[in-house]
Amino acid sequence: MALRFYNTLTQTTEPFSPAQDNTVRMYTCGPTVWNFVHIGNLRTFTSQDILRRWLQYRNYGLQHVMNITDVDDRIIQQAVAAGQSIYDYTDIYTKAFFEDTGKVRLQRPEIVSKATDHINEMVALIQGLAENGCTYESEGSTYFRIAKFPEYGKLAHLHFEGMQSGARVDTDKYEKDDARDFVLWKARKEGEHFWDTPLGPGRPGWHIECSAMAMKYLGETLDIHAGGVDLIFPHHENEIAQSEACTHKPFARFWLHTEHLMVEGETMSKSKGNFYTLRDLFEKGYSPEAVRYLLTSVPYRKQLNFTFDGLRSAATAIERLRNFELRLKTTKFPDGDNPAFDERTAKALAQFEEALDDDLNTAEALGAVFEYIRDANTAIDNGDFKTANRQNADSFLQKFDQVFDVLKPTVSEHALSDADIDALVAERTAAKKAKNFKRSDEIRQTLADQNVILEDTKEGTRWKRK
Ligand code: AMP
Ligand code: ZN
Repeated sequence: MALRFYNTLTQTTEPFSPAQDNTVRMYTCGPTVWNFVHIGNLRTFTSQDILRRWLQYRNYGLQHVMNITDVDDRIIQQAVAAGQSIYDYTDIYTKAFFEDTGKVRLQRPEIVSKATDHINEMVALIQGLAENGCTYESEGSTYFRIAKFPEYGKLAHLHFEGMQSGARVDTDKYEKDDARDFVLWKARKEGEHFWDTPLGPGRPGWHIECSAMAMKYLGETLDIHAGGVDLIFPHHENEIAQSEACTHKPFARFWLHTEHLMVEGETMSKSKGNFYTLRDLFEKGYSPEAVRYLLTSVPYRKQLNFTFDGLRSAATAIERLRNFELRLKTTKFPDGDNPAFDERTAKALAQFEEALDDDLNTAEALGAVFEYIRDANTAIDNGDFKTANRQNADSFLQKFDQVFDVLKPTVSEHALSDADIDALVAERTAAKKAKNFKRSDEIRQTLADQNVILEDTKEGTRWKRK
């Protein structure tokens, strides 16, 4: 079956292909850069990396825009507390975001756009909405009038018919006509960063930035819009209202939402002491690949329960994958071909692809890989895996890694390069031959100190990084 995604908008799983040419136009809500990225954020961003890689695997081009929210209430407060401008303050966390996400191998979107660089676009969009009669001003701020957009609620599947417009229910902020109305432009407050614009001095509300930047770079209708489930309402609902009230065209064809990450069965929070940034996990000695593996192992629409046991199991799973890769590379297989085993490889690849085509079912895709490795190891043990079977097996493993990207160990900047290690291993072999055991032991120790493990086999010395 063809590639398909669950669409929050239609609440069904639909076949996916881009609307124009071969390029997928995609927008994902990026980080609010007021702190280091935490593992909850990271789950959502990692699921979007799998989405990117799977679209590329299926030979689509990508035009992916991600925003950086570099102005909001928290940022303003924190910057004031730190005695910095919002630019200096957010610059630190924007850089840290790319450093951290780079470590877990998230591809950088084609376009990364900062909210503060797009104030003019936001103002123009608000002016367009004003011309369509969808806004009103109150106490220097501009609001979106939900009553002007009858389809409001269509993404979150909320029904507001029972609610009287203008009834001022459920709110203690009486400056709005309707509780659901949301701010597009916030009036300047003393001591806060502001921009002087035709809308008056102030700053943008959060929702408008995504509509303005998405449409600037991707056009009026996106193929995919994605984010965490917490963004469905009101953020994405408001994005739809603002964009569609302006263009009268569907804002996004597919809406993909990633479920939340929990920690040991509970929501993550600083007060519970179960709040982790990626940096916390690195400090505890976990590898970026283990974190990446754990985050991708559960399909994005299922809640992920993060545990340290899970993180250790992820490291073990990666070990199995790498051991298999090493075995494929270094074993001297019996000559010839075993067509039955090539068929087994083809079946595994088909299962892997079908699982990811099915709304990115990563758990099933991994299941197919591990079942295959088990069968391949048995075939190798029994002599049923022949020299000519190696190529397909290796190609399958590389295809897996194109998406999951966990096979290559992260090498620290100070570590030995592969070539250095090869040279030391060769030197050790020569030293052993010359019965210079002092030198050969020394080399083994040097490599062990660099987390390189040697294994002497009939076919020579293999090495791997721990
Ligand atoms: P923020 O930096 O708060 O704007 O959030 C960035 C992204 O992380 C958004 O797509 C959120 O939906 C997502 N997110 C926040 N908390 C979690 C969580 N616990 N699990 C999964 N995704 C989350
Ligand atoms: Zn957004």
